[in-house]
Amino acid sequence: MAQCLIKPDIDFARSLSEAGGESLKKCYQCATCAVACPMAPANAPYPRKEMVWASWGLKDKLTSDVDIWLCHNCGNCSDLCPRGANPADVMSAARNTVYKTLTEPTCVGELMSKPQGLPILFGIPALLWLIVWWLRAGFNGGTWFPTRADGSIVFGDIFYGDYTIDPIFMLTFFGALFIIARGAMKLWKMFSPEGKLTVVGEKKCWVWHLWDVLVEEVIFATHFDDCQKGPKTGKPEAGRRVGHTILVWAFCALAFVTAVVALGHWGGKVIPAIEITTPLKPLNLIKIIANVGALMLVVGLAMLTIRRFMENKKTHTSNYYDWYLLGVIWAVALTGIFSQIFRLAEAVGPAFLVYYLHLVFVWMLFAYLPWSKLGHLVYRTVALLHVRMYGRKY
Ligand code: SF4
Ligand code: SF4
Repeated sequence: MAQCLIKPDIDFARSLSEAGGESLKKCYQCATCAVACPMAPANAPYPRKEMVWASWGLKDKLTSDVDIWLCHNCGNCSDLCPRGANPADVMSAARNTVYKTLTEPTCVGELMSKPQGLPILFGIPALLWLIVWWLRAGFNGGTWFPTRADGSIVFGDIFYGDYTIDPIFMLTFFGALFIIARGAMKLWKMFSPEGKLTVVGEKKCWVWHLWDVLVEEVIFATHFDDCQKGPKTGKPEAGRRVGHTILVWAFCALAFVTAVVALGHWGGKVIPAIEITTPLKPLNLIKIIANVGALMLVVGLAMLTIRRFMENKKTHTSNYYDWYLLGVIWAVALTGIFSQIFRLAEAVGPAFLVYYLHLVFVWMLFAYLPWSKLGHLVYRTVALLHVRMYGRKY
């Protein structure tokens, strides 16, 4: 008779609990959750099997499971679980444990996993931008808060784009991109089955599958509707899809503005006709798009934050990863808006201080992205691409 040796990893089970899966021991394997999940296909149900793997401490099984990334965290399974084992929280905790160790340097993942790491994570960019400020103040004859002759404030007089902001953010952005790409490749290998699988779905080039995933899942988040079409649980629905979609479009608008300004600034050195000088006037079209993007960011964030506060705490808890991401994006949005308000009001001290904090939080958002919940943008896309190539839709 074939034997299967199971090696439970007690430390892993403990780290799952710390990452938000405290309730998993209550599960008695009734499988209600797998039936209740509106996303799980009939031939590949979840999250019941993940509950077994989690409670047995089967680290390899759980962390290489593609289904943990396909879960939309709608909470239907937790609402209907008769034991209060909160499988949605366990799925979320499983993703959090992967963020922690998926990609190097894992010490950042360790710091990102608990509030005690926050002072160091904040301190690194705070020190970096303080050094930049100090160096530039030295060039300005010791003036830390410069104003122009007409009293106007130009942030570039301290945080000069060409030699500080642009190179630092370019390095940070491409560094994070490289690290997350390594994580995505590692994840793809972990998902890949041993031996051969028969593809039962639509066969097409991976590029077209990726296109479908980006349009349906990232841009329009259509599958949140499938969550809402799941079993009626009687819980209030606070527009989760709308909040997510507004947030994604806000990021798209702000990324577009950044790209246009960078093109105008650097391209303008070669083709003077396309030169853009900052700060832009309030009625400049690019400035208007930037302000609309910032407003959308606040609206989307407010919807998602209210939803988290409204959740039934017995069946759905928000963990540290959830609050970290919301907190950093709130900080980016508010410091961006208030630095502009203080600049226009010519309040020189608050304007520079808030702009400095804005740079710190934007750096945190990008530099720590591979270990934060925002990484799911890439990791979930990889998981969806993987299952679609093997004939599943999600
Ligand atoms: S998590 Fe709840 S619903 Fe799912 S198998 Fe366990 S007890 Fe049943
Ligand atoms: S949270 Fe929603 S999508 Fe995730 S396993 Fe539960 S029912 Fe399925």
